[in-house]
Order: sequence, then structure tokens, then C-alpha cells
Amino acid sequence: MEKDVRVRFAPSPTGALHIGGVRTALYNYLFARKHHGKMILRIEDTDQNRFVPGAEEYIMEALAWCGIKIDEGIIEGGPYGPYRQSERKSIYMEFAMKLINEGKAYYAFDTPEELDAMRDRLKAARVDSPQYNVITRATMNNSLRLSEDEVKARLSSGEPYVIRLKVPRKEEIRLNDMIRGWVMVHSSAIDDKVLMKSDGMPTYHLANIVDDHLMKITHVIRGEEWLPSAPLHVLLYRYLGWEDTMPQFAHLPLLLKPEGNGKLSKRDAEKHGFPIFPLQWKDPNSGDEVMGFREQGYLPEAFLNFIAFLGWNPGTQQEIFSMEELIDCFSIERIGKSGTKFDINKAIWYNQQYLKEKNKHELAAYLTPLLEKNGISASDEKAAKVCETLKERVTFPSDFWDQGKYFFIAPTDYDQAVASNKWTGEAVSVLQSFKERLETLETVTAEDVKSLLNDVLALQQVKIGRVMQAIRLAITGVAAGPDLMQIIEIVGPKETAERIENALVTLKEHAKN
Ligand code: GLU
Repeated sequence: MEKDVRVRFAPSPTGALHIGGVRTALYNYLFARKHHGKMILRIEDTDQNRFVPGAEEYIMEALAWCGIKIDEGIIEGGPYGPYRQSERKSIYMEFAMKLINEGKAYYAFDTPEELDAMRDRLKAARVDSPQYNVITRATMNNSLRLSEDEVKARLSSGEPYVIRLKVPRKEEIRLNDMIRGWVMVHSSAIDDKVLMKSDGMPTYHLANIVDDHLMKITHVIRGEEWLPSAPLHVLLYRYLGWEDTMPQFAHLPLLLKPEGNGKLSKRDAEKHGFPIFPLQWKDPNSGDEVMGFREQGYLPEAFLNFIAFLGWNPGTQQEIFSMEELIDCFSIERIGKSGTKFDINKAIWYNQQYLKEKNKHELAAYLTPLLEKNGISASDEKAAKVCETLKERVTFPSDFWDQGKYFFIAPTDYDQAVASNKWTGEAVSVLQSFKERLETLETVTAEDVKSLLNDVLALQQVKIGRVMQAIRLAITGVAAGPDLMQIIEIVGPKETAERIENALVTLKEHAKN
């Protein structure tokens, strides 16, 4: 039987969650649900210098907005808590001590100045990337070099120290990544990483391995930027005696700039004017504020569908997937190795598709608050009809108001270009009789309007194409929009007649023969 799948999303609360982070969370979630496993949210906040207030709440709100549900975490609790690393300090120390006692880690007392001097020395000797490693450790102030008594004395006097991993001199470290296949690294390429910092906090590496082990994580699905650390992690599993239950790794491909050259950054998003965060974020330090997909009017389902395709594909032509369908079809085997170009037009396309799928009452729920905000009271039925008419043309919910204002407010301004070109004597005379006929009616259907207008045109022997834009202009003030007969049905015959009257007065000077 398959081992119970347990995956985790392990963000550091250092600011807003980047879209790449949301994708990582989503793939973890899909994998967990697909295998009837558990999704864990672990907050990796051991770097106290980088802690940003509000980031943790932001992460949780962003996941909830997209519909990613957490089974175990700081709010949900669970059998392997606490789920915030800063609350697990003593646990890490216990394992660091175990490594020390077994000769797999050591105390290092080097001051920042001593570390700098070591690097300068190595640079002068033309060492490309000076490191604290199997060679240099023999020259530094650590428990491998100092006598036992001196180490004891330093520890009891309270001298600051870190705990470093004693990386073996010659060992091959391999891991079989679910996406990349075999990755092999020689231990000489790894430095003696700090495991415990002088503030008593573990580093990411130690905390991550200890927690993944204690929380019984079976699969680590995370961004490609962590691939270089993976061999070190394998080594830690080996040293701690946990290699048999080591999780399987899957490193997700990078998200690339729209141009495809390099990793997508916040700066690219600014340059191109698209969001990169799911929700709006105000940086508590700088006060800078950035819009999120949510505030820009993306529907969560559309956003989710968009990010699902950033690196994964179902292998079929199907593009629209609900969360349930994603869970059903998802597999790590269908995640690509190469980076994925970020294309905001695809996100826009998804939004349009999802908006179109909504019924008119669901759409009216977007429009109604915008109407209220603009002091307009309209029946639900009217709002729904307007949305129905506009839905093939909109990208964002706010477009129902931006593009549909004239359904609720008579125009006072008219598109000048159309007025100059199309406001002809012919148009004026058609509008005049069209208006007179509309005035007498209480309600009309689009069909009625059409035959009524056709009658007027036939009587005056005018072809519709010659006056259509002028009629649209009189009623909406703008040059383009959905079917005009539909608009008149919604606006109503009386109101339409009044609008025509207004236009006839306002645009008088444009009339030419
Ligand atoms: N805390 C790490 C991050 O912020 C987690 C990396 C991992 O998933 O192992 O991305």
C-alpha cells in the first residue's frame, strides 16, 4: 500500500507571497489531494532579521483566496506541531547536539573579522570561492582544532558560537529528483554549513530537515532555487540516520520573464505593469504598496487555473480546469524541467473565460456594489441584464461598470469623432421620428425596436449603415458597444427617447446636409 502522502508548503514570512510561491503551494496541494494525503503549512521564520510583520497573515489569506486548504498548520493545529519554526527552537538544538556528539558537527567560535580574514587569505591565494570547509576548518577557531578544555572554557564563559556541519572529505551524494532525475554532487563542493546560529536559532537547512522528518513529510515539492541545497539536505538525512525515510524531492522549474531571459522578478512585473502577488501588499517598512491579482479583478478560479499551467500541463488540449479537475489530472510526471515564460495575456484570457461562464445574477453581484458606490439605484433585474449583454466583452468585473455606465446614466458628452463624421441631416431626421415612436411606448423588446427602426428607415429610404453610429452615439455617447437594440430594450423606450432629444439639442451644430 502507498505510504500516506504528507506534503508541506514552507514559506518564510519575509514579505508578500510571490506568484511562484503560490504555484508551489498549489502543486503541493494538488498532489496531496490526489493521493488523499495531507497538506501542511509550516512557517519558516528562523531568520529573525528578515521577519516582516503581516507576511504570515498575508500568506494564509492568499492561499485561502485561491482555494488552497491547509490540513495542518499554525491555525489548524495538528499532531506534529508547533508549525512555526521559531516555536521549535529546542527541538533543533537537540539534533544539533546529537550531531556534535557523534562527531558530525562542531562548534565554531570564529568572529566575523576572523572569517573575513580567512576569505581574504584565500582570495590572495587565488581561491575562487573561499569557503569554510574540510581544508580551512583546520585553521579556524573550532572544536575540531581547539583542545577540549578550551572549547569547554569558551562555552562556559558564554562566548558566542555557531554549530557547523562537518562535511565529509570525499563522498558522493546522489538524489533522484522526481522532475530532474538523478542529481549527483561531490561532498568537496559543499561547505561546512552553519546549522545553529549564534542567536540559538537553527538555519534553514537544519530546521527544514528536522521538521520534514518529524512531520513525516513524504514529498518535498519546492522551487528550483533549492536544488543546489538538496545534496546538503541528503547529507543531513544520512548523518541523522534518517535516510530510509527521506522524502522524495521534486524541484519545480523556474518562472521566467515574459521575454524568457531569466527569472521573473518584482521589477519585471512593475516594468510590464502586471501583478506578481496574489493580493495587494503594503510593505510595513517602506510603505510601498503593490496591487495583487485579486485587486486587479482576477477571479480566484481563473488565477488558479492560470498558475496551474505555469510548469504543468495535462497532455491534452483542455485548458479550463476546476480545482477538482486539476486534482484529478495532476501528476508530477507532467511537470516540465525547463522554465516557464510568464504571459499575463494568458491570465487575462482565463479571466474572460471564467467571467463568461457565470450566470447573469452572479455577474450582477459584481456590478451592484459599483452602482451603489456611484449613487445609482437600479433593480437587480436591470443589473443582471446589463451584465448578460456585456459579458462577451469584459475582462474584469469592474468593466461592467466602466463599459456599461451609459445603461444607467444618460450621456452628456459625445464621442467627438463620431459626432463630426456621422451626425448628418439624414441621421437627425431618422432620430427625430424614431424618438417620436419610442415616446409612446412603455416597454420594448429588442425585436420591437428593430422593426420600429426598420419602419422609420424604410419610410425615409435610408440604409441602416448610414445612420447606425449616430443612433448609438445619441443613446450611449460612445462609438462602440454591444447590440444597440438590446441596449434600448434595457434603457427603455421613454428614457431612450429623452436621450435622443438631448443629443438632438446638444449636437445641433454638427448636423450637416
Ligand atoms: N522556507 C523556504 C522558502 O522560503 C522553504 C524551502 C523548502 O520548501 O524547502 O522557500
